Amino acid sequence: MSGTLQGIEAEWIWHDGEFIPWHEARIHIMSVAVQFGSSVFEGIRCYATDDGPAVFRLPDHIRRLLDSCRVYRMDPGCSSEELVRACVETIARNGLVSCYVRPMVLWGYGAAGMLPVGSPLEIYVVTFPWGSYLGPEALEQGVDVCVSSWQRAEPNTYPAMVKSAGHYNNAQLMKMEAHANGYIEAIALTPGGTVSEGSGQNIFAVRNGVLYTPFIDGTSLSGITRDSVIQLAGDLDIAVRVEPMPREALYTADELFFTGTASEVTPIRSVDKIPVGAGRMGPVTRALQQRFLDAAHGRLPERREWLTPVPSAAGAPTAAATQSRVR
Ligand code: PMP
Repeated sequence: MSGTLQGIEAEWIWHDGEFIPWHEARIHIMSVAVQFGSSVFEGIRCYATDDGPAVFRLPDHIRRLLDSCRVYRMDPGCSSEELVRACVETIARNGLVSCYVRPMVLWGYGAAGMLPVGSPLEIYVVTFPWGSYLGPEALEQGVDVCVSSWQRAEPNTYPAMVKSAGHYNNAQLMKMEAHANGYIEAIALTPGGTVSEGSGQNIFAVRNGVLYTPFIDGTSLSGITRDSVIQLAGDLDIAVRVEPMPREALYTADELFFTGTASEVTPIRSVDKIPVGAGRMGPVTRALQQRFLDAAHGRLPERREWLTPVPSAAGAPTAAATQSRVR
């Protein structure tokens, strides 16, 4: 994965119904979003399929974005259909085939304190090509991870089901500590000491052919890839148990893997230098990873409803079609 945006910038960014050049997407240093991390966002992937580019579970991501807005009392002033269209149009306008999509809803310049009164709520949709988040080899070789010394916050502190920028300070602490200690990624525990999730991924364990994943317990994000994998496990007659996961289950699992939009289905090779199972991708992980990638790339007819096609730039509607956002 490229660690920086330099060199992978797209040409256009969608801003409140209009396309603006990438480098003109600027906000003031005193925007509420900059001062206090007051923005909500999504991370979505568009995949190349035989029928052209298609966005994976786009309406579900937009639903989560609007849910995030609701919890933070943000009124985006547009419908989910308009936001879906904005994402599709931005991909088409940039001529991208496979890419990452980052819609953001943020409080702009105005308020000095905690109440965002007098600040505009701005919406952006950013797209850029992005390879494998945990490294080019990660999907096959797996990743070496640690249990973080930073834990997730108590439920009812930061709403963990919401994708808010401010929450990711905790994830950054985890990720930076992991890298400083030579690991690719970190797993957070809950305040109670059970397993929560990765810095930007949900986690699954396999033991005796059964798939385990922790509850969405107010310390983790309800991942769309997690939900996809649970459904795909059903297709493959793999039993799934959603239950609290003790830390020691990480060291005794036959297989472990992360799920996430950026990370897709990434095997975990070791935790705290203890090899997971045989130390390489196991058969259940492989089957689920394959099925997930098949679904995302449009190779599973029964999962085509998960894909929103992106028309080619020439046939794409113009930004005017999404300019109904009223302030
Ligand atoms: N947990 C966290 C904290 C995340 O940031 C992500 C990535 N969005 C996930 C889990 C996985 O969610 P999804 O599968 O919807 O990308």
